[in-house]
Amino acid sequence: MDIFFYIEMKKRNEILIKQLEETITSYNDIMSCINENCEYTYSTVELINFYNDLCEDCEYQIKQVNIMNKSNDTIIYENCKHNFITDIIDIDPEKEKTICYCTVCELTKRD
Ligand SMILES: [Zn+2]
Repeated sequence: MDIFFYIEMKKRNEILIKQLEETITSYNDIMSCINENCEYTYSTVELINFYNDLCEDCEYQIKQVNIMNKSNDTIIYENCKHNFITDIIDIDPEKEKTICYCTVCELTKRD
C-alpha cells in the first residue's frame, strides 16, 4: 500500500479544515458588522441566511474531514516504515515537552 497517498490526503485535509474555519471566522465578522451597522432589510436577511447555511455546512464538513483524518492516521500508522526520532518542543516560553515522532509520516509514537 502506498501510504504517501494517505499522507498527502491528510495534509490537504488539514488545509481544507483551516479554510473552513476561516470561512466561519469571516462569517462571524460579517455578522457582527451587520449587527452593528446595518438595518435589517430584505437583502441583509438574505445574506444572513446564506451565511448561516454556509456556516452550518462548514461545521459539518470539518467534523467529516476530522473523522476521515482519524482513519487516515490509523492506516498511515499501521503501514509506515517508521523512523522515530525524539525531539523537544516548546509549549510556551517556560515549558517544553519531549516528543517522539516519525520523520516519514510525522505521527507521534503510540504506546
Ligand atoms: Zn511513520
